[in-house]
Amino acid sequence: MPPADGVSASREDVLARYEPVIGLEVHCQLLTRTKIFCGCPNRFGGEPNTLVCPVCLGLPGALPVLSREAVELALRAAIATRCQVHEVSVFARKNYFYPDLPKGYQISQYDQPLATDGAVEIPAGDGGWRQVRLERIHMEEDAGKMLHEGMPWSSERSGVDFNRSSVPLIEIVSRPDMRSAEEAYEYLTALKAVLLYAGVSDGNMEEGSLRCDANISLRPRGSEAFGTRSEIKNLNSFRNVARAIEHEILRHAALLDAGQKIPLETRLWNADRGETVAMRSKEESHDYRYFPEPDLPPLVVSAAWIAEVTAALPELPADKRRRFVAQYAIPDYDASVLTLSRAVADYYEAAAKTAGNAKATSNWVMNEVLRKLNEDGREIAASPVTPEALAELVKLLDGGTISGKIAKDVFEKMWATGDAPGAIVAREGLVQVSDEGALQKAIDEVIAQSPEQVATYRKGKTGTLGWFVGQVMKKTGGKANPQTLNALLKKALDGPAA
Ligand code: ADP
Ligand code: MG
Ligand code: ZN
Repeated sequence: MPPADGVSASREDVLARYEPVIGLEVHCQLLTRTKIFCGCPNRFGGEPNTLVCPVCLGLPGALPVLSREAVELALRAAIATRCQVHEVSVFARKNYFYPDLPKGYQISQYDQPLATDGAVEIPAGDGGWRQVRLERIHMEEDAGKMLHEGMPWSSERSGVDFNRSSVPLIEIVSRPDMRSAEEAYEYLTALKAVLLYAGVSDGNMEEGSLRCDANISLRPRGSEAFGTRSEIKNLNSFRNVARAIEHEILRHAALLDAGQKIPLETRLWNADRGETVAMRSKEESHDYRYFPEPDLPPLVVSAAWIAEVTAALPELPADKRRRFVAQYAIPDYDASVLTLSRAVADYYEAAAKTAGNAKATSNWVMNEVLRKLNEDGREIAASPVTPEALAELVKLLDGGTISGKIAKDVFEKMWATGDAPGAIVAREGLVQVSDEGALQKAIDEVIAQSPEQVATYRKGKTGTLGWFVGQVMKKTGGKANPQTLNALLKKALDGPAA
Protein backbone atom coordinates (compact mmCIF):
# COMPACT_ATOMS: atom_id res chain seq x y z
CA MET A 1 0.00 0.00 0.00
CA PRO A 2 1.81 3.19 -1.13
CA PRO A 3 1.91 5.87 1.56
CA ALA A 4 0.51 9.35 0.87
CA ASP A 5 3.91 10.87 0.04
CA GLY A 6 3.93 8.72 -3.09
CA VAL A 7 7.57 7.64 -2.72
CA SER A 8 6.76 4.03 -2.20
CA ALA A 9 6.04 1.95 -5.26
CA SER A 10 4.27 -1.34 -5.87
CA ARG A 11 6.05 -4.61 -5.15
CA GLU A 12 6.36 -5.39 -8.87
CA ASP A 13 7.87 -2.00 -9.58
CA VAL A 14 10.27 -2.31 -6.63
CA LEU A 15 11.43 -5.75 -7.76
CA ALA A 16 11.89 -4.50 -11.31
CA ARG A 17 14.34 -1.88 -10.08
CA TYR A 18 15.98 -3.48 -7.03
CA GLU A 19 17.45 -6.89 -6.35
CA PRO A 20 17.03 -8.20 -2.79
CA VAL A 21 20.14 -9.73 -1.22
CA ILE A 22 19.57 -12.06 1.71
CA GLY A 23 21.84 -13.98 4.10
CA LEU A 24 20.56 -16.06 7.01
CA GLU A 25 22.06 -16.90 10.38
CA VAL A 26 20.56 -20.06 11.85
CA HIS A 27 21.07 -21.13 15.44
CA CYS A 28 20.50 -24.83 15.96
CA GLN A 29 20.36 -26.57 19.32
CA LEU A 30 22.20 -29.86 19.24
CA LEU A 31 20.39 -33.02 20.33
CA THR A 32 22.92 -33.95 22.98
CA ARG A 33 22.10 -35.60 26.28
CA THR A 34 23.99 -32.96 28.27
CA LYS A 35 24.86 -29.29 28.00
CA ILE A 36 28.01 -28.24 26.19
CA PHE A 37 30.35 -27.56 29.14
CA CYS A 38 28.73 -29.43 32.08
CA GLY A 39 26.75 -32.58 32.83
CA CYS A 40 23.36 -30.90 33.22
CA PRO A 41 20.64 -32.48 31.06
CA ASN A 42 19.90 -30.78 27.75
CA ARG A 43 16.13 -30.93 27.98
CA PHE A 44 13.32 -28.55 27.07
CA GLY A 45 10.53 -27.65 29.46
CA GLY A 46 11.76 -28.37 33.00
CA GLU A 47 10.65 -26.17 35.91
CA PRO A 48 12.71 -22.95 35.74
CA ASN A 49 16.25 -23.25 37.11
CA THR A 50 16.10 -26.98 37.84
CA LEU A 51 18.56 -28.04 35.11
CA VAL A 52 21.52 -26.00 36.32
CA CYS A 53 24.89 -26.32 38.08
CA PRO A 54 27.75 -23.97 39.02
CA VAL A 55 29.25 -24.24 35.50
CA CYS A 56 26.16 -23.23 33.51
CA LEU A 57 25.25 -20.65 36.16
CA GLY A 58 28.70 -19.12 35.66
CA LEU A 59 29.60 -19.24 39.35
CA PRO A 60 33.15 -18.08 40.18
CA GLY A 61 35.76 -20.80 39.91
CA ALA A 62 33.62 -23.23 37.89
CA LEU A 63 35.41 -24.52 34.81
CA PRO A 64 33.96 -25.64 31.46
CA VAL A 65 34.72 -29.06 29.95
CA LEU A 66 33.78 -29.47 26.29
CA SER A 67 31.26 -32.25 25.52
CA ARG A 68 32.55 -34.74 22.94
CA GLU A 69 28.98 -35.51 21.90
CA ALA A 70 28.36 -31.83 21.09
CA VAL A 71 31.45 -31.74 18.87
CA GLU A 72 30.35 -34.95 17.19
CA LEU A 73 26.92 -33.49 16.31
CA ALA A 74 28.48 -30.22 15.14
CA LEU A 75 30.77 -32.29 12.92
CA ARG A 76 27.82 -34.17 11.48
CA ALA A 77 26.12 -30.87 10.61
CA ALA A 78 29.30 -29.47 9.06
CA ILE A 79 29.98 -32.55 6.97
CA ALA A 80 26.33 -32.92 5.91
CA THR A 81 26.40 -29.33 4.62
CA ARG A 82 29.66 -30.09 2.79
CA CYS A 83 31.74 -27.68 4.87
CA GLN A 84 35.47 -27.84 5.21
CA VAL A 85 36.12 -28.90 8.81
CA HIS A 86 39.19 -27.33 10.40
CA GLU A 87 41.56 -29.54 12.32
CA VAL A 88 42.01 -26.83 14.93
CA SER A 89 39.33 -24.42 16.06
CA VAL A 90 39.32 -22.03 18.98
CA PHE A 91 36.71 -21.04 21.54
CA ALA A 92 36.45 -17.34 22.36
CA ARG A 93 34.63 -15.17 24.83
CA LYS A 94 32.01 -12.86 23.38
CA ASN A 95 31.47 -10.25 26.07
CA TYR A 96 28.19 -8.46 26.64
CA PHE A 97 25.87 -7.73 29.53
CA TYR A 98 22.39 -9.10 29.67
CA PRO A 99 20.54 -10.73 32.58
CA ASP A 100 20.24 -14.07 30.76
CA LEU A 101 24.02 -14.37 30.39
CA PRO A 102 25.36 -15.29 33.84
CA LYS A 103 29.10 -15.12 33.09
CA GLY A 104 28.88 -11.77 31.31
CA TYR A 105 30.25 -13.49 28.23
CA GLN A 106 29.16 -16.26 25.88
CA ILE A 107 31.63 -18.96 24.96
CA SER A 108 31.57 -19.04 21.17
CA GLN A 109 34.00 -19.39 18.30
CA TYR A 110 35.21 -16.34 16.48
CA ASP A 111 38.11 -16.10 14.03
CA GLN A 112 38.85 -19.82 14.02
CA PRO A 113 35.49 -21.58 13.65
CA LEU A 114 34.95 -25.33 13.42
CA ALA A 115 34.02 -25.29 9.75
CA THR A 116 33.76 -22.98 6.72
CA ASP A 117 32.66 -22.97 3.07
CA GLY A 118 29.68 -25.33 2.89
CA ALA A 119 26.63 -25.41 0.65
CA VAL A 120 22.93 -26.20 0.77
CA GLU A 121 21.00 -27.06 -2.39
CA ILE A 122 17.71 -25.26 -3.10
CA PRO A 123 15.28 -25.46 -6.06
CA ALA A 124 16.22 -22.83 -8.65
CA GLY A 125 12.69 -22.20 -9.88
CA ASP A 126 13.41 -23.36 -13.44
CA GLY A 127 13.23 -27.01 -12.42
CA GLY A 128 16.95 -27.12 -11.64
CA TRP A 129 18.86 -26.67 -8.39
CA ARG A 130 21.31 -24.09 -7.11
CA GLN A 131 23.71 -23.79 -4.21
CA VAL A 132 23.41 -21.40 -1.29
CA ARG A 133 26.92 -21.20 0.07
CA LEU A 134 27.69 -21.32 3.77
CA GLU A 135 30.23 -18.95 5.21
CA ARG A 136 30.82 -20.89 8.43
CA ILE A 137 29.52 -23.15 11.13
CA HIS A 138 30.74 -22.50 14.63
CA MET A 139 29.94 -23.93 18.06
CA GLU A 140 28.70 -21.90 21.00
CA GLU A 141 26.63 -22.08 24.15
CA ASP A 142 23.05 -20.85 24.45
CA ALA A 143 22.04 -18.13 26.89
CA GLY A 144 19.30 -18.41 29.52
CA LYS A 145 15.80 -17.13 28.89
CA MET A 146 14.01 -14.11 30.28
CA LEU A 147 10.57 -14.79 31.76
CA HIS A 148 8.46 -11.68 31.28
CA GLU A 149 5.07 -13.37 31.57
CA GLY A 150 3.13 -16.10 33.32
CA MET A 151 4.43 -15.67 36.88
CA PRO A 152 2.36 -14.34 39.82
CA TRP A 153 4.83 -11.47 40.10
CA SER A 154 5.08 -10.77 36.36
CA SER A 155 3.42 -7.36 36.58
CA GLU A 156 6.28 -6.07 38.79
CA ARG A 157 9.38 -7.89 37.66
CA SER A 158 10.89 -10.29 35.15
CA GLY A 159 12.56 -13.58 35.99
CA VAL A 160 15.32 -15.50 34.31
CA ASP A 161 15.46 -19.24 33.65
CA PHE A 162 18.94 -20.73 33.25
CA ASN A 163 17.81 -24.20 32.12
CA ARG A 164 18.79 -23.22 28.58
CA SER A 165 22.07 -21.66 29.68
CA SER A 166 24.96 -23.57 28.02
CA VAL A 167 22.79 -25.77 25.85
CA PRO A 168 25.01 -26.58 22.84
CA LEU A 169 24.37 -24.61 19.66
CA ILE A 170 25.83 -24.36 16.24
CA GLU A 171 25.45 -21.16 14.29
CA ILE A 172 25.16 -21.71 10.56
CA VAL A 173 25.92 -18.53 8.62
CA SER A 174 24.98 -18.43 4.95
CA ARG A 175 26.56 -16.19 2.38
CA PRO A 176 24.31 -13.44 1.03
CA ASP A 177 23.30 -15.78 -1.80
CA MET A 178 19.51 -15.63 -1.65
CA ARG A 179 17.53 -13.24 -3.83
CA SER A 180 13.92 -13.55 -2.64
CA ALA A 181 11.75 -14.45 0.33
CA GLU A 182 10.86 -17.73 -1.40
CA GLU A 183 14.53 -18.65 -1.73
CA ALA A 184 15.05 -17.92 1.97
CA TYR A 185 12.10 -20.20 2.73
CA GLU A 186 13.49 -22.93 0.47
CA TYR A 187 16.91 -22.62 2.06
CA LEU A 188 15.50 -23.03 5.56
CA THR A 189 13.39 -25.99 4.44
CA ALA A 190 16.39 -27.69 2.84
CA LEU A 191 18.72 -26.90 5.75
CA LYS A 192 16.22 -28.23 8.27
CA ALA A 193 15.89 -31.45 6.26
CA VAL A 194 19.67 -31.92 6.30
CA LEU A 195 19.87 -31.27 10.04
CA LEU A 196 17.04 -33.72 10.73
CA TYR A 197 18.54 -36.42 8.50
CA ALA A 198 21.89 -36.01 10.20
CA GLY A 199 20.23 -36.36 13.61
CA VAL A 200 21.68 -33.04 14.71
CA SER A 201 18.46 -31.25 15.62
CA ASP A 202 14.78 -31.94 16.19
CA GLY A 203 14.03 -28.89 13.99
CA ASN A 204 11.38 -27.65 16.41
CA MET A 205 11.04 -23.89 15.91
CA GLU A 206 8.30 -23.47 18.53
CA GLU A 207 10.61 -24.81 21.22
CA GLY A 208 13.42 -22.67 19.88
CA SER A 209 15.65 -25.52 18.76
CA LEU A 210 15.99 -23.77 15.39
CA ARG A 211 16.18 -19.98 15.33
CA CYS A 212 16.81 -17.71 12.41
CA ASP A 213 17.97 -14.12 11.95
CA ALA A 214 17.56 -12.66 8.48
CA ASN A 215 19.90 -10.12 6.89
CA ILE A 216 18.53 -8.21 3.96
CA SER A 217 19.61 -5.39 1.68
CA LEU A 218 18.66 -4.10 -1.74
CA ARG A 219 20.86 -3.15 -4.66
CA PRO A 220 19.88 -1.56 -7.95
CA ARG A 221 19.42 -4.29 -10.59
CA GLY A 222 22.62 -4.71 -12.54
CA SER A 223 24.90 -3.32 -9.85
CA GLU A 224 27.52 -5.47 -8.14
CA ALA A 225 28.00 -3.75 -4.79
CA PHE A 226 25.78 -4.78 -1.91
CA GLY A 227 23.65 -2.23 -0.09
CA THR A 228 23.58 -1.78 3.68
CA ARG A 229 21.71 -4.60 5.41
CA SER A 230 19.14 -4.74 8.17
CA GLU A 231 19.36 -7.66 10.55
CA ILE A 232 15.91 -8.99 11.54
CA LYS A 233 15.40 -10.92 14.76
CA ASN A 234 12.41 -12.52 16.50
CA LEU A 235 11.45 -14.68 13.54
CA ASN A 236 9.69 -17.70 14.98
CA SER A 237 8.66 -19.60 11.85
CA PHE A 238 9.85 -20.04 8.27
CA ARG A 239 6.68 -18.28 7.15
CA ASN A 240 7.52 -15.29 9.30
CA VAL A 241 11.04 -15.19 7.88
CA ALA A 242 9.48 -14.88 4.42
CA ARG A 243 6.92 -12.31 5.57
CA ALA A 244 9.57 -10.19 7.27
CA ILE A 245 11.77 -10.23 4.18
CA GLU A 246 8.84 -9.15 1.99
CA HIS A 247 8.15 -6.32 4.40
CA GLU A 248 11.80 -5.23 4.51
CA ILE A 249 12.08 -5.21 0.71
CA LEU A 250 9.33 -2.56 0.50
CA ARG A 251 10.65 -0.63 3.51
CA HIS A 252 14.19 -0.46 2.09
CA ALA A 253 12.88 0.52 -1.34
CA ALA A 254 10.83 3.38 0.11
CA LEU A 255 13.87 4.73 1.97
CA LEU A 256 16.16 4.38 -1.05
CA ASP A 257 13.60 5.98 -3.37
CA ALA A 258 13.37 8.91 -0.96
CA GLY A 259 17.15 9.31 -1.23
CA GLN A 260 17.76 8.23 2.35
CA LYS A 261 20.55 6.05 3.68
CA ILE A 262 19.76 2.65 5.20
CA PRO A 263 21.19 2.55 8.71
CA LEU A 264 23.03 -0.65 9.67
CA GLU A 265 20.72 -1.84 12.42
CA THR A 266 19.07 -4.74 14.13
CA ARG A 267 15.28 -4.79 13.87
CA LEU A 268 12.58 -6.84 15.56
CA TRP A 269 9.80 -8.55 13.62
CA ASN A 270 6.31 -8.03 15.01
CA ALA A 271 4.23 -10.88 13.58
CA ASP A 272 0.90 -9.43 14.71
CA ARG A 273 1.50 -6.10 13.01
CA GLY A 274 3.39 -7.59 10.07
CA GLU A 275 6.24 -5.10 10.38
CA THR A 276 9.70 -4.59 11.80
CA VAL A 277 10.78 -1.99 14.35
CA ALA A 278 14.29 -0.72 15.02
CA MET A 279 15.87 -2.36 18.07
CA ARG A 280 19.44 -1.07 18.12
CA SER A 281 22.13 0.04 15.76
CA LYS A 282 24.12 -2.99 14.71
CA GLU A 283 26.97 -3.86 17.04
CA GLU A 284 30.41 -4.37 15.52
CA SER A 285 32.58 -7.29 16.48
CA HIS A 286 34.97 -5.04 18.44
CA ASP A 287 32.02 -4.13 20.67
CA TYR A 288 32.18 -7.68 21.98
CA ARG A 289 35.86 -7.55 22.96
CA TYR A 290 36.38 -11.10 21.71
CA PHE A 291 39.38 -12.92 23.13
CA PRO A 292 40.38 -16.60 23.22
CA GLU A 293 38.74 -18.58 26.02
CA PRO A 294 41.55 -19.24 28.54
CA ASP A 295 39.70 -22.11 30.23
CA LEU A 296 39.41 -24.29 27.13
CA PRO A 297 42.21 -25.67 24.95
CA PRO A 298 41.87 -25.35 21.17
CA LEU A 299 39.53 -27.99 19.76
CA VAL A 300 41.45 -30.53 17.72
CA VAL A 301 39.52 -32.73 15.29
CA SER A 302 41.56 -35.54 13.75
CA ALA A 303 41.15 -36.67 10.15
CA ALA A 304 40.22 -40.10 11.53
CA TRP A 305 37.36 -38.61 13.53
CA ILE A 306 36.07 -36.74 10.47
CA ALA A 307 36.23 -39.94 8.43
CA GLU A 308 34.36 -41.85 11.11
CA VAL A 309 31.57 -39.26 11.34
CA THR A 310 31.34 -39.06 7.54
CA ALA A 311 30.98 -42.82 7.24
CA ALA A 312 28.23 -42.91 9.85
CA LEU A 313 26.07 -40.27 8.15
CA PRO A 314 22.93 -41.58 6.44
CA GLU A 315 22.12 -40.86 2.81
CA LEU A 316 21.31 -37.12 2.74
CA PRO A 317 18.20 -35.52 1.21
CA ALA A 318 19.82 -34.29 -2.02
CA ASP A 319 21.44 -37.68 -2.69
CA LYS A 320 18.25 -39.51 -1.89
CA ARG A 321 16.34 -37.19 -4.22
CA ARG A 322 18.70 -37.94 -7.09
CA ARG A 323 18.53 -41.66 -6.37
CA PHE A 324 14.69 -41.63 -6.33
CA VAL A 325 14.62 -39.95 -9.75
CA ALA A 326 17.05 -42.51 -11.15
CA GLN A 327 15.69 -45.62 -9.43
CA TYR A 328 11.94 -45.01 -9.56
CA ALA A 329 11.74 -42.75 -12.61
CA ILE A 330 9.57 -40.24 -10.76
CA PRO A 331 9.73 -36.48 -11.49
CA ASP A 332 12.37 -34.45 -9.65
CA TYR A 333 9.58 -32.48 -8.00
CA ASP A 334 8.01 -35.62 -6.54
CA ALA A 335 11.40 -36.79 -5.32
CA SER A 336 12.09 -33.46 -3.63
CA VAL A 337 8.78 -33.55 -1.73
CA LEU A 338 9.17 -37.20 -0.75
CA THR A 339 12.72 -36.76 0.55
CA LEU A 340 12.10 -33.70 2.76
CA SER A 341 11.64 -36.11 5.65
CA ARG A 342 13.53 -39.35 6.04
CA ALA A 343 10.46 -41.09 7.48
CA VAL A 344 8.33 -40.06 4.50
CA ALA A 345 11.07 -41.17 2.09
CA ASP A 346 11.28 -44.57 3.81
CA TYR A 347 7.50 -44.91 3.73
CA TYR A 348 7.43 -44.11 0.03
CA GLU A 349 10.19 -46.57 -0.81
CA ALA A 350 8.54 -49.39 1.11
CA ALA A 351 5.21 -48.75 -0.63
CA ALA A 352 6.68 -48.25 -4.13
CA LYS A 353 8.71 -51.46 -3.96
CA THR A 354 5.62 -53.55 -3.15
CA ALA A 355 3.20 -51.67 -5.41
CA GLY A 356 5.37 -51.86 -8.49
CA ASN A 357 3.92 -48.61 -9.86
CA ALA A 358 6.31 -45.98 -8.47
CA LYS A 359 4.64 -42.91 -9.99
CA ALA A 360 1.14 -43.91 -8.87
CA THR A 361 2.53 -44.57 -5.38
CA SER A 362 4.18 -41.17 -5.38
CA ASN A 363 0.85 -39.53 -6.25
CA TRP A 364 -0.91 -41.36 -3.43
CA VAL A 365 1.73 -40.43 -0.87
CA MET A 366 1.96 -36.78 -1.94
CA ASN A 367 -1.73 -36.10 -2.55
CA GLU A 368 -3.48 -38.32 -0.03
CA VAL A 369 -1.14 -39.52 2.73
CA LEU A 370 0.64 -36.18 3.28
CA ARG A 371 -2.66 -34.31 3.06
CA LYS A 372 -4.31 -36.51 5.69
CA LEU A 373 -1.27 -36.34 7.97
CA ASN A 374 -1.35 -32.58 7.67
CA GLU A 375 -5.09 -32.45 8.41
CA ASP A 376 -4.69 -34.69 11.45
CA GLY A 377 -1.46 -33.03 12.61
CA ARG A 378 0.23 -36.45 12.72
CA GLU A 379 3.70 -37.74 11.90
CA ILE A 380 3.98 -40.40 9.23
CA ALA A 381 5.00 -42.98 11.84
CA ALA A 382 1.44 -42.67 13.17
CA SER A 383 -0.20 -43.12 9.76
CA PRO A 384 -3.15 -45.54 10.05
CA VAL A 385 -2.37 -46.60 6.47
CA THR A 386 0.85 -48.63 6.34
CA PRO A 387 3.09 -48.63 3.25
CA GLU A 388 2.04 -52.24 2.63
CA ALA A 389 -1.66 -51.33 2.73
CA LEU A 390 -1.13 -48.39 0.39
CA ALA A 391 0.76 -50.65 -2.02
CA GLU A 392 -2.15 -53.10 -1.97
CA LEU A 393 -4.55 -50.27 -2.82
CA VAL A 394 -2.38 -49.19 -5.76
CA LYS A 395 -2.38 -52.78 -6.99
CA LEU A 396 -6.17 -53.12 -6.72
CA LEU A 397 -6.51 -49.98 -8.81
CA ASP A 398 -3.82 -50.92 -11.33
CA GLY A 399 -5.27 -54.39 -11.75
CA GLY A 400 -8.71 -52.99 -12.54
CA THR A 401 -10.34 -54.51 -9.45
CA ILE A 402 -11.57 -51.10 -8.30
CA SER A 403 -12.16 -47.81 -10.10
CA GLY A 404 -10.24 -44.62 -9.36
CA LYS A 405 -13.22 -43.07 -7.67
CA ILE A 406 -13.79 -46.09 -5.44
CA ALA A 407 -10.07 -46.17 -4.62
CA LYS A 408 -10.33 -42.67 -3.12
CA ASP A 409 -13.26 -43.81 -0.95
CA VAL A 410 -11.43 -46.96 0.07
CA PHE A 411 -8.41 -44.86 1.05
CA GLU A 412 -10.60 -42.69 3.31
CA LYS A 413 -11.98 -45.85 4.94
CA MET A 414 -8.47 -47.28 5.36
CA TRP A 415 -7.47 -44.05 7.06
CA ALA A 416 -10.49 -44.09 9.37
CA THR A 417 -10.35 -47.78 10.32
CA GLY A 418 -6.80 -48.96 9.65
CA ASP A 419 -8.30 -51.90 7.70
CA ALA A 420 -6.62 -53.40 4.64
CA PRO A 421 -8.06 -52.26 1.28
CA GLY A 422 -8.82 -55.82 0.15
CA ALA A 423 -10.96 -56.38 3.24
CA ILE A 424 -12.86 -53.12 2.72
CA VAL A 425 -13.50 -53.84 -0.98
CA ALA A 426 -14.76 -57.37 -0.21
CA ARG A 427 -16.88 -56.29 2.76
CA GLU A 428 -18.58 -53.45 0.90
CA GLY A 429 -18.84 -55.11 -2.51
CA LEU A 430 -16.82 -52.40 -4.26
CA VAL A 431 -15.32 -54.49 -7.01
CA GLN A 432 -15.44 -52.60 -10.28
CA VAL A 433 -18.14 -53.62 -12.75
CA SER A 434 -16.46 -54.25 -16.11
CA ASP A 435 -18.93 -56.89 -17.16
CA GLU A 436 -20.55 -55.54 -20.33
CA GLY A 437 -23.86 -57.31 -19.77
CA ALA A 438 -24.35 -55.76 -16.35
CA LEU A 439 -23.34 -52.33 -17.57
CA GLN A 440 -25.54 -52.55 -20.68
CA LYS A 441 -28.53 -53.31 -18.47
CA ALA A 442 -27.93 -50.16 -16.40
CA ILE A 443 -27.42 -48.11 -19.57
CA ASP A 444 -30.64 -49.37 -21.12
CA GLU A 445 -32.52 -48.42 -17.95
CA VAL A 446 -31.11 -44.89 -17.91
CA ILE A 447 -31.88 -44.38 -21.60
CA ALA A 448 -35.45 -45.63 -21.16
CA GLN A 449 -36.00 -43.30 -18.20
CA SER A 450 -34.60 -40.17 -19.91
CA PRO A 451 -36.23 -39.65 -23.34
CA GLU A 452 -35.78 -35.85 -23.22
CA GLN A 453 -32.09 -36.03 -22.45
CA VAL A 454 -31.59 -38.65 -25.13
CA ALA A 455 -33.32 -36.42 -27.69
CA THR A 456 -31.15 -33.47 -26.69
CA TYR A 457 -28.00 -35.56 -27.06
CA ARG A 458 -29.06 -36.89 -30.43
CA LYS A 459 -29.74 -33.32 -31.66
CA GLY A 460 -25.99 -32.84 -31.38
CA LYS A 461 -25.45 -31.78 -27.74
CA THR A 462 -22.95 -34.58 -27.22
CA GLY A 463 -21.43 -32.67 -24.32
CA THR A 464 -24.22 -34.13 -22.19
CA LEU A 465 -22.52 -37.55 -22.31
CA GLY A 466 -21.09 -36.83 -18.86
CA TRP A 467 -24.61 -36.58 -17.48
CA PHE A 468 -25.39 -40.11 -18.72
CA VAL A 469 -22.11 -41.40 -17.26
CA GLY A 470 -23.13 -39.91 -13.91
CA GLN A 471 -26.57 -41.57 -14.04
CA VAL A 472 -25.14 -45.01 -14.77
CA MET A 473 -22.45 -44.52 -12.09
CA LYS A 474 -25.24 -43.77 -9.62
CA LYS A 475 -27.02 -46.98 -10.53
CA THR A 476 -23.82 -49.00 -10.08
CA GLY A 477 -22.77 -47.29 -6.86
CA GLY A 478 -19.77 -45.69 -8.59
CA LYS A 479 -18.37 -49.10 -9.47
CA ALA A 480 -18.67 -49.00 -13.25
CA ASN A 481 -15.40 -49.32 -15.11
CA PRO A 482 -15.23 -45.84 -16.68
CA GLN A 483 -13.59 -46.90 -19.97
CA THR A 484 -16.05 -49.70 -20.63
CA LEU A 485 -18.98 -47.52 -19.57
CA ASN A 486 -17.97 -44.68 -21.89
CA ALA A 487 -17.62 -46.94 -24.87
CA LEU A 488 -20.94 -48.68 -24.29
CA LEU A 489 -22.79 -45.43 -23.64
CA LYS A 490 -21.49 -43.82 -26.84
CA LYS A 491 -22.51 -46.85 -28.80
CA ALA A 492 -26.01 -46.79 -27.31
CA LEU A 493 -26.54 -43.06 -27.83
CA ASP A 494 -24.83 -42.62 -31.20
CA GLY A 495 -26.29 -45.79 -32.69
CA PRO A 496 -29.69 -45.98 -34.38
CA ALA A 497 -32.57 -45.06 -32.07
CA ALA A 498 -34.04 -48.12 -30.46
P1 ADP B 1 26.86 -10.55 12.40
O1 ADP B 1 27.15 -11.42 13.57
O2 ADP B 1 27.43 -9.21 12.47
O3 ADP B 1 25.42 -10.53 12.05
P2 ADP B 1 27.63 -12.63 10.64
O4 ADP B 1 28.84 -12.76 9.80
O5 ADP B 1 27.36 -13.61 11.71
O6 ADP B 1 27.65 -11.17 11.19
O7 ADP B 1 26.35 -12.67 9.69
C1 ADP B 1 26.21 -11.78 8.67
C2 ADP B 1 25.08 -12.30 7.79
O8 ADP B 1 24.65 -11.25 6.98
C3 ADP B 1 25.51 -13.41 6.85
O9 ADP B 1 24.49 -14.36 6.73
C4 ADP B 1 25.72 -12.70 5.52
O10 ADP B 1 25.45 -13.52 4.42
C5 ADP B 1 24.71 -11.60 5.60
N1 ADP B 1 25.07 -10.39 4.87
C6 ADP B 1 26.25 -9.75 4.88
N2 ADP B 1 26.21 -8.65 4.11
C7 ADP B 1 24.95 -8.57 3.62
C8 ADP B 1 24.25 -7.63 2.78
N3 ADP B 1 24.85 -6.55 2.31
N4 ADP B 1 22.96 -7.89 2.52
C9 ADP B 1 22.34 -8.96 3.01
N5 ADP B 1 22.93 -9.86 3.79
C10 ADP B 1 24.22 -9.67 4.12
MG1 MG C 1 24.01 -11.38 12.91
ZN1 ZN D 1 25.25 -27.17 34.31
